[in-house]
Amino acid sequence: MEESPFASLKAALRGTLITREDEDAFTAARSRGWNRDLNLRANPLAFAVVSGVRDIVTTVNYCRSNKIPIAVRGKGAHSPYGMANNAVVIDLMKMTAVSVDPEKKLAYIQAGADGGDVDHETALHNLICITGSVSHTGFAGVALGGGLGHLSRWLGPVVDSIVSYEMVTAAGEVIRVDEASDPELFWGMRGNGASFGIVTEFVVRLRDMPNGGIIRSAPILWAADKAKEVMTSWMGRIGRGDRKETETLQFVFMHSPDGLPVCGVVPLIVGETEAAAKATCDELASFGGGAQVRHDTQLPYTALQAALDTLVPFNTNYWDKGVFINWDPRDTSAVNSIVDVAVKHWSEKPEFASKLSTFILFMEVDAAVGRADPASTSFAGRKGRLWCSCITSWPDDDASQRAASKRWCGELVAKLSRFHVTSYLNNAMPESEAEMLEVFPQDTMKRLRALKEKVDPNNVFKTGAWQYEANK
Ligand SMILES: Cc1cc2nc3c(=O)[nH]c(=O)nc-3n(C[C@H](O)[C@H](O)[C@H](O)COP(=O)(O)OP(=O)(O)OC[C@H]3O[C@@H](n4cnc5c(N)ncnc54)[C@H](O)[C@@H]3O)c2cc1C
Repeated sequence: MEESPFASLKAALRGTLITREDEDAFTAARSRGWNRDLNLRANPLAFAVVSGVRDIVTTVNYCRSNKIPIAVRGKGAHSPYGMANNAVVIDLMKMTAVSVDPEKKLAYIQAGADGGDVDHETALHNLICITGSVSHTGFAGVALGGGLGHLSRWLGPVVDSIVSYEMVTAAGEVIRVDEASDPELFWGMRGNGASFGIVTEFVVRLRDMPNGGIIRSAPILWAADKAKEVMTSWMGRIGRGDRKETETLQFVFMHSPDGLPVCGVVPLIVGETEAAAKATCDELASFGGGAQVRHDTQLPYTALQAALDTLVPFNTNYWDKGVFINWDPRDTSAVNSIVDVAVKHWSEKPEFASKLSTFILFMEVDAAVGRADPASTSFAGRKGRLWCSCITSWPDDDASQRAASKRWCGELVAKLSRFHVTSYLNNAMPESEAEMLEVFPQDTMKRLRALKEKVDPNNVFKTGAWQYEANK
């Protein structure tokens, strides 16, 4: 490496290079990520806050030549893998432009944008882009691992809407990848995208939003002592065979604003008349002898997309775990078993856990998600009926609180193991190596390895399926 570390890289960038020598700026860059606990653990060499594609190429070439590991993050910065020890973090936070072609129904999304940036532009044209369910998560991080949103039952995972990628390769070349130009790389990008290059722009197909962008949603809540009864009714309701894909019903354990444990059904009903959507919500609200509080109403889609944002603020200590589960809806013992596990687990949350940011969430991810041919993309999460996630946050930078939080999240996933169909790449947490082996089926992994050998043989991009040595 050169004598004055990074001098030539700093000079070559139009954006900003922040090194450990820039003490305050470096500390600020390090603590920008969503998860405070993980921010404190990773100590990169530098942050390259790039201004555009050329800065990315320059940084990739510099790091490859000097054998410096690379990490990548966008404005979202929610993932544990957006920073790494002794790496240069290529930070795309300034690359957040989104433009929409309403005629072609396409969005052109710069890779640093978050979900909110995307919704803000698409809603102008009454079009919808499937993104994650929290608007401050990055579009890129969500999309590169598959991407499941509030309306994935209807619209599928994000990867099914992607038309093309512009990306920087390990060799520092700028390429555009689509089905015609490179079908194998296009396949790999749609499910394990962070492994093969740095995306600079996504081109994504949009859909018309019915009802002028209005959706019936917001939680219907019961006190936690009704959870067994209500969740059993909800499991029966989602197991019905006659449902439209435009109806999604989530189930959540959370706290009310006054800090009491509650459970809730969150309806997401698109394209129905107000009377029909309300009738469905009336039926849901009758569960458990009647809901305690009803918030369900007509919401603009953008309001729904931002509804969870304040529950999971930045710079907070978090642990989360998730898994896809499935069961035969006619199997009453399976239903009872899932309900019993969930209700008991909620009652066992750590006593110090944040009331704002502690949940167990069951998201419906069947219908359109499962319909695509599993071999059409590398995304491996198509067999779940529910995506079950457990998330908690602890107040102090305290090892025992961290350990207890980690244990609580992990135990839920373990207790549901009988119903696992696969893990989700985007849920992979550090220190959970074994989980990675469950993400991709063997034939997918074999194909991914062959692709990796072709496009990035020296493993310049270490995330995705290569997050752990366990996969080698
Ligand atoms: C609060 C919260 C809510 C979530 N909700 C959902 C949800 O509804 N649906 C869902 O599917 N997932 C969800 N997730 C999981 C989420 O998909 C992953 O945590 C994801 O990695 C976060 O993306 P990000 O862009 O915010 O993170 P970042 O840290 O910015 O990026 C994530 C990873 O993607 C890679 N990466 C980022 N940008 C690029 C790029 N341009 N090119 C190549 N690689 C890149 C990097 O390896 C990076 O480590 C949620 C996570 C959290 C914490």
